[in-house]
Amino acid sequence: MIMNEPESSEIPSYGVVIIGAGVSGLYQLYKSREIGVSALVLESGTDVGGTWYWNRYPGARFDSESYSYGYSFSQDLLDQWDWQERFSAQPENLRYLQHVSERFDLRSDIRFQSVVTQCTFDETSNEWQVEVEDGFKVRCRFLVTAIGILSKPLIPDFDGMEDFKGPSFHTARWPHDEVVFTGKRVGIIGTGATAVQLIQEVAKTAEHLTVFQRSPNWCAPLHNGPIDPAEMADIRSHYDEIFERCRKSFSGFIHDSDERRALDVSEEEREALYEELYAAPGFGIWIGNFRDVLVDEAANATLSDFIARKIRERVEDKQLAEKLIPRDHGFGTRRVPMETGYYEVYNQDNVLLVDVNETPIEKVTIDGIQCSDQEHPFDLIVYATGFDAVMGPYKSIKFTGSDGRTLAEKWETGPSTYLGLATAGFPNMFTLVGPHNASTFCNMPRCIEQNVEWVSTFLEQLFSSDITRVEVNIDAEEEWTEHVYESVQRMLFSKVDSWFMGVNKNIEGRDTRTFMLYVGGFPSYTERCDDVAKDGYRGFIMS
Ligand code: NAP
Repeated sequence: MIMNEPESSEIPSYGVVIIGAGVSGLYQLYKSREIGVSALVLESGTDVGGTWYWNRYPGARFDSESYSYGYSFSQDLLDQWDWQERFSAQPENLRYLQHVSERFDLRSDIRFQSVVTQCTFDETSNEWQVEVEDGFKVRCRFLVTAIGILSKPLIPDFDGMEDFKGPSFHTARWPHDEVVFTGKRVGIIGTGATAVQLIQEVAKTAEHLTVFQRSPNWCAPLHNGPIDPAEMADIRSHYDEIFERCRKSFSGFIHDSDERRALDVSEEEREALYEELYAAPGFGIWIGNFRDVLVDEAANATLSDFIARKIRERVEDKQLAEKLIPRDHGFGTRRVPMETGYYEVYNQDNVLLVDVNETPIEKVTIDGIQCSDQEHPFDLIVYATGFDAVMGPYKSIKFTGSDGRTLAEKWETGPSTYLGLATAGFPNMFTLVGPHNASTFCNMPRCIEQNVEWVSTFLEQLFSSDITRVEVNIDAEEEWTEHVYESVQRMLFSKVDSWFMGVNKNIEGRDTRTFMLYVGGFPSYTERCDDVAKDGYRGFIMS
């Protein structure tokens, strides 16, 4: 074991402290052990799982093909784990991550119920001091954040929220006990990817469901289904090819764009591909489409028209159908919610859509929600109102870097990083799935494995040398940040308000577009990271 524990200190010390026990934190712990570095994970929840621990609302499931989502690093794990559904649901996803934790005995190095409040870099020892809400302190040579980009839930500040007499909660803080909708009047605020998954489920049993929509999203069919043992055996025999395909695709999925342009082919050919993708499982319709649909407005309009026609076919009430069709952005220029009968829900007698642009929410009352025209009585209110995405998790911990400046101060007007993995002024710190990192627009575990493996190889070299401090050169950071913005400029994402662009109507001052992700593609990102490593970790200053 390579240890960096000052013997006299009362505060425990580790080679690496990892914040978060989700998909990235668990793998970082596994790899840290593999390279012989002592590691401790601090996790705010009571169990492992991250996203799949917190988001336990009915309907929560992968939008990635299950077999492309699991870890690829262990053949034994691949041999043992059978996926039951093409797009596996939250309970099984959590079980999977629990299984991984048990299989590799990860829990023994995880401290649960540990909400990290601050992390301070100590210039004299070149160590981080990490503090937990309950008073626990730990020091480490390297700090690795595995806190995700969609982990800080956001509930808008409606008047009277505390007055409501029934239960109410955010989707990412769903109760651990079963929530029964039968015989209940339920209100759901929001129509993002989370709400779409939830609405489909609640509508099945609720006495009445009211959906409060501010902006419709373009949704596409998921086409989930079971995986039988024969199919699972076939998948297992092709894992190498599946992961290779993901590695080569733009965003780590099994889907990759069609080489043709929508505007170069005949209308029949265009429609044929749209029909084929609409009928096929998963994100193909979004990221496996003609290569110009996410970059060219005219091409995108052909796809948006196609999806709008589908919505009109599926929703019986013509006026309602029009309300469900987005007007302010084209298909795929915001995250596409995947659905199973979502539009048909609005044909049910027990479901009402309230357009809050027409009748705004005025306040929450004792009995329900008061809109400008009427009060809607509820037994249960669900806030499917999203997250303080990307920056939120980083701003909720006080990271103080080498010059006494906090990360929140540094990133006040937007993130700037090197490879989305480190940031100048914060030595010995790596940000898995950080802002401007390829994993932000990726089939997460595929990019997470790349992130963790790259960081771990670097750490292994650092621990086997005399280097005690590594930090980003500001020139390298500026160059990367420029490249991040260049990569999005050609894409239609940059012309639309969304969490991709850092816009959040619920947070004051967050109305300017500041790009949060990286859309230069997974293969070229990997190549760049590998290049940096081969070039002696170009862009990092080591001492
Ligand atoms: P979201 O996309 O930010 O959606 C939040 C919804 O709440 C939006 O419809 C928003 O409307 C609405 N809203 C917020 N404040 C409101 C207010 N004051 N009044 C009325 N409506 C309000 O959040 P999300 O649905 O939780 O999804 C976030 C991300 O999580 C997704 O984009 C996706 O990346 C990820 N996700 C992944 C999966 C999966 O992989 N299976 C599933 C779910 C989510 P506006 O649009 O008008 O702001």
